[in-house]
Order: sequence, then structure tokens, then C-alpha cells
Amino acid sequence: MKIGFSSLALFMRPLKEIFKIANEDGFEIVELLCEGPYWSRYVLENQKEINLDEIREIAISYNIEIFLHAPTIDLNPASMNRGIREETQKQTIETLKLADILSAKAITTHPGIVHRKEKRIRDLAVGYAIETLQPCQKYAEEIGVILSIENMPKRFSYLAHSPKEHEKIVKAVGSSATIDWGHANTYENPNEFLNIPNIIYYHLNDNLNIKDQHLPLGEGNADFSNYFLKKVKYGIIELNNYENVLKSKNFLIKQLGV
Ligand SMILES: [Zn+2]
Repeated sequence: MKIGFSSLALFMRPLKEIFKIANEDGFEIVELLCEGPYWSRYVLENQKEINLDEIREIAISYNIEIFLHAPTIDLNPASMNRGIREETQKQTIETLKLADILSAKAITTHPGIVHRKEKRIRDLAVGYAIETLQPCQKYAEEIGVILSIENMPKRFSYLAHSPKEHEKIVKAVGSSATIDWGHANTYENPNEFLNIPNIIYYHLNDNLNIKDQHLPLGEGNADFSNYFLKKVKYGIIELNNYENVLKSKNFLIKQLGV
């Protein structure tokens, strides 16, 4: 398994520094969370000042693969409001453009949320999510970047909160899938998520099976057996504290027995 971490753990640090730390601690992937100072549009508009070409070269020299997490805060591809759907699509495409410049392998995004419990409204929302993300998939194919859609925790408002709905969206969009193993662990049978077609990578975090907690690996009850970890080609530790990222990396190495 190639092990990486989400830049969430080093939020606000300059990009160069994040890659330097990743290299020193032996990580092979960095997933950049495109929010705040790394918001895709801001980075694209200021690419000269940020020196994106240099960042790409630094990553290559360290042998670190880049993945991006598209902005999702306040966006919603499944929104009942067409303006929000259009803005979500625009920002997803901007993130794909950024991925192209950085030679990133893939970008992950969320399938969206629905605020009402009626089935017909949920069906409408799923349809909107697919409609919003299909052109993004088309663009991703044109530029040779992978678009991947993430499963969400088991709460009614999240789309892709079950393997069935996740699979439906991924198949209809024609995208790849990101499995957040902590999110999957809030579902009765997390292993069902492993059958989703086109899984490209995993977000790794832990919880106690009740709600999404993003605990260090091994501190909850998610399955990090060698059997599960053998399936994971690219694993991104997604926690908001870097000490816990390092702790989780050591845990993974121990579990893998390498
Ligand atoms: Zn996510």
C-alpha cells in the first residue's frame, strides 16, 4: 500500500512545507484539501505567485503522488437550487484543471446532500447529482485525470450513505469511487462498500460505528485487518492532527507486517 495523508492535518501550512514534511516522514501520497488557502480557484488565479510548477517538480523529486479533494463546503451537486449546482460543477472543473497542472492522479468530491426525507425528493437529488457530475467526468477523461466520488456517513441527508446509492451514482456518472473507510464503518456492513466498481483509493480514519469521528486508526472499531489492508492500493490517512497521522501510519505499518 502507498500511504499518504490529507493536508487537513497541516492546514494553512505553505504547500512546499507540506511536501517537505511528507517526504521526511516517508509518505508516498499527499491529498490536498482544496479549501481555504488552497481553494482551487484561488490557487489557479495565483499560480505564478504560488509557483505551482515548482510544487509539481518538488512532488516529483520526492516521488510523492498528488491527489486533490475538491471543495465541498457550502457546495452541493444535488442542490434543489440550479445556481448552487452550476457553481458546484464550475468548482469541480476548476479542481480538475488544478489537478492537470499539478499532474495529480485523481480528485475526490462528495455526491451532495438532500434536506427532505421524501423518497421522490431524494430521487430528484440523486438525479441532480448525476447531472451535475457527468460533465465533470467527461472533462476529467479529456484531460486524463481521474474523477472519484466518495461515500458518505450513514445520515439520511448525505447522498451515497449506503453502498447501493454510492454504486448508483458512481455508475451513472461513470466515475471512479473513493471509499472513506470511517464513513463506511458507520454503516451496518462496511464490507459491502468494497464491491463498488472502480475504487481508486481509500480515506482511512476510525470511529466507534455510531457516527463519523475521524479518530486515529486503531482507536475505534473499523476493520484494519491485514485482510482489508491488502485490498488498499492507495490509502490516505484523513485526520485533522498531524501527530495522529504519524501514529496512524505506524499502526498501518504494524498491521501490514512490513
Ligand atoms: Zn471527503
